[in-house]
Amino acid sequence: MIIIDGSEGEGGGQVLRYACALSLMTGEAFTIGNIRGGREKPGLMRQHVTAIEAACVIGGAECTGLAVGSNSISFRPGRVTPGDYHFAVGTAGSTALVLQTVLVPLMLADAPSRLVIEGGTHAMAAPPFEFIERTLLPVINRMGPTISARLVRHGFFPRGGGWIEVDIVPAALRPVECAERGALRRVGATAILAGIPFDVGDRELKTAAKTLPDWPPESFVTRQLPADQGPGNALLLEAVFDNVTEIMSAFGKIGVPAERLAKTAARRMAGYLACEAFAGPYLQDQLILPFAIAGGGHFSTVKLSQHTLTAAALVERFLGTGVRFAEHEDGAILVEVGRS
Ligand code: ATP
Repeated sequence: MIIIDGSEGEGGGQVLRYACALSLMTGEAFTIGNIRGGREKPGLMRQHVTAIEAACVIGGAECTGLAVGSNSISFRPGRVTPGDYHFAVGTAGSTALVLQTVLVPLMLADAPSRLVIEGGTHAMAAPPFEFIERTLLPVINRMGPTISARLVRHGFFPRGGGWIEVDIVPAALRPVECAERGALRRVGATAILAGIPFDVGDRELKTAAKTLPDWPPESFVTRQLPADQGPGNALLLEAVFDNVTEIMSAFGKIGVPAERLAKTAARRMAGYLACEAFAGPYLQDQLILPFAIAGGGHFSTVKLSQHTLTAAALVERFLGTGVRFAEHEDGAILVEVGRS
């Protein structure tokens, strides 16, 4: 039985999701206390409960203490069973983060799976759908499996109501080398609006253009969705390289000026473009688990996040896999998995 202090490291929901996934893959039970102890409002939120329930359903696991607000759970894994599954967060909680919990176990199963996940698709502090589709999955597919994702309906905070579908054809994971991002092929900025004035998107794009002056004017576009999918607003900044596509995002929030959120996302993209690393600030922690299961491989990235260090500590505990970080002269970090 592995015992985890949920307030250590990043101290948020990610520890729970990765622990469930690792537990399903190793057969090792765990208990976690001080859940989300690093957050202002600790304990399980609806989206974390849905993610853990999803892990229980696909993995025949038993979990005690599972309820909104709970500060500790015990998780005993069973056998992962591929199949057709439908999970609904019930709030605007992230569909991508439910996927983050079950994806790696299902892609090692002995038959394909199809998932429908309802909830938020474009909400704060989580990967927007496009990041999953264009940034994360292409790297994972290079490791062996064939995973495709479709966005059927957008879901924004606070209403939710989004719908994504994911098809998973499993394969053993093989280590890959992702040190080079390759040449820049295309850039794009999209302001998505649902039931929000056009002007909001316009202001976001103009602000982003100031921070990204080399991006061609035609790469800035506004996309208006049917108002009944809103209200909601997201800004997606995308850079497509030969070997990786990075997406920086920002999500409209009442009381936060469109200019401010656009500036934050654009600066993040400018910082990524200015270095040579493969993975940006969010892809890095999401690659640790599949790389660790593959038993090796490496990728270069920007400054390490607390999420990445926490994920590395977890794979070390469950799998005994070491993750080594080496800083290069240009500031990029080489993350080598399977080395201690
Ligand atoms: P908490 O509320 O405790 O923070 P959480 O479950 O919502 O918990 P985290 O533990 O912070 O969230 O984990 C968030 C995950 O979402 C991480 O894997 C992070 O890399 C990813 N993520 C956050 N923002 C983005 C973004 N803009 N683009 C891509 N991925 C993101």
